[in-house]
Amino acid sequence: MERQFNFAAGPSAMPLPVLEQIRDEMLCYPGAGSSVLEMSHRSSAFQEIHAGAQESLRRLMRIPDEYAILFLQGGASLQFSMIPMNLMPKGGVADYVETGSFAKKAAVEAARWGTVNTIFSGKAEKYGRIPEVTQDMLSKEASYLHITGNNTIYGTTYHKWPKTGGIPLVADLSSCILGQDVEVTDFDLIYAGAQKNMAPAGLTVVIVKKSLLKDTPPEVPAMLSYKLAADNDSMYNTPNCFAIYAAGLVFKWIEGQGGIAALEAANREKAALLYDVIDASKLYKGCAAPDSRSIMNVTFTLPTEEETADFIKQAKGKGIINIKGHRAAGGIRASIYNAMPIEGVKVLADFMKEYETK
Ligand SMILES: *Cc1c(COP(=O)(O)O)cnc(C)c1O
Repeated sequence: MERQFNFAAGPSAMPLPVLEQIRDEMLCYPGAGSSVLEMSHRSSAFQEIHAGAQESLRRLMRIPDEYAILFLQGGASLQFSMIPMNLMPKGGVADYVETGSFAKKAAVEAARWGTVNTIFSGKAEKYGRIPEVTQDMLSKEASYLHITGNNTIYGTTYHKWPKTGGIPLVADLSSCILGQDVEVTDFDLIYAGAQKNMAPAGLTVVIVKKSLLKDTPPEVPAMLSYKLAADNDSMYNTPNCFAIYAAGLVFKWIEGQGGIAALEAANREKAALLYDVIDASKLYKGCAAPDSRSIMNVTFTLPTEEETADFIKQAKGKGIINIKGHRAAGGIRASIYNAMPIEGVKVLADFMKEYETK
């Protein structure tokens, strides 16, 4: 079977030239005499891979020196626990914006460590919109405000980042990092699981203001301390060498594409193709409020479950795969991260039009 247009939400499509390079270097990494899968994380070859990936990411996102880049494991989900344990005193308070399932999960973990103040919940509105977060909504004693920048399951995103008036802003950017340009200095901590828009699963990128790195209380496991990770350049223990290597190749590929701004422009064009079909349609209904629409995950529904299943089945015949919505949301979700070429989105948009007329 040929490669299809893969709209999976994560793990998701990777750029073909990156996969080809991985294939070519799989048995013997240039100059190393072994596969990257077989080399020591302390070897000079891997040290170069690791440092190179960090440097590329720093260039791509214009990350200032006051921020550390950490390559961790445990997925974005472990960050749900690490954030409170590192940024809030035990029993402290943090503000959370509940814009979807992952936002909710993040708050549930934080509540094990302190008091969670949910300043907005979109649950009753099926998480279809992002609120405007203003300073007067925040608790005075909050150690930080946590937001989920792009809600992968519901297809919503912030079109304006909250201004917190000095309260550290922590953002889960798992599904929009590198797909749209952000000013890192608008945030105090950014984290992202790699498997949406960066690399295979098993790597989590954390970009954190160095002034927030503090010794954690004794009951916090060593592996959950940002400071320990930073002091050891993310090599306190064996990192996910392969995912870091793959991420480095993806970062280089993005640089070759003209950087994040160029990819964001392409992503906006891709998203508009699908939203235009939805807006002109009597069959498809967009799930996200227009002012909260994501350019990474486009979600919509058909009137019945039978039609949804039929749509998914017929799409497969056009080479369109993995468009079934998340089980929590239903419907259809097309994830159109950096590696999805515009040709794939055009095939989907054309199929949507054709399906509606039939
Ligand atoms: C996928 C995803 C997660 C969960 O990531 P894991 O790496 O599987 O823990 C968390 N937040 C967002 C926004 C996601 O898209």
